[in-house]
Amino acid sequence: MSHCQSCGACCATFRVSFHIEEVDDVSGGRVPAGLVESVAGQLACIRGTATAPRRCVALRGRIGEAVSCAIYEFRPDACREFAPLAAVGRGDEACNEARRRHQLPPLGSA
Ligand code: SF4
Ligand code: SF4
Repeated sequence: MSHCQSCGACCATFRVSFHIEEVDDVSGGRVPAGLVESVAGQLACIRGTATAPRRCVALRGRIGEAVSCAIYEFRPDACREFAPLAAVGRGDEACNEARRRHQLPPLGSA
């Protein structure tokens, strides 16, 4: 099982923002518009991540135990590109910062 499936800390730590072209009400976008809010200009974010306490509305489960993403196939690039080796147990600075904020131990360095 992926390390991320027993974590989810990053989904409840940082603002998950992206260009509005990723939203599915725009041609070619895929992120469900109902889960998105505007930030400013061409920038949007996933609901629940704009202000603290942050928790993405698409995050299911308990952080640090068992989690899943309700829009996994349609998640924004920011999620796809975040800590790409964390799933196999190799975290980076941002991943481990998120884990630290949720009282989880760091993953091995990337
Ligand atoms: S990328 Fe890091 S912080 Fe995010 S779910 Fe995976 S292990 Fe947790
Ligand atoms: S869209 Fe999915 S992967 Fe991205 S922050 Fe939300 S729950 Fe996490």
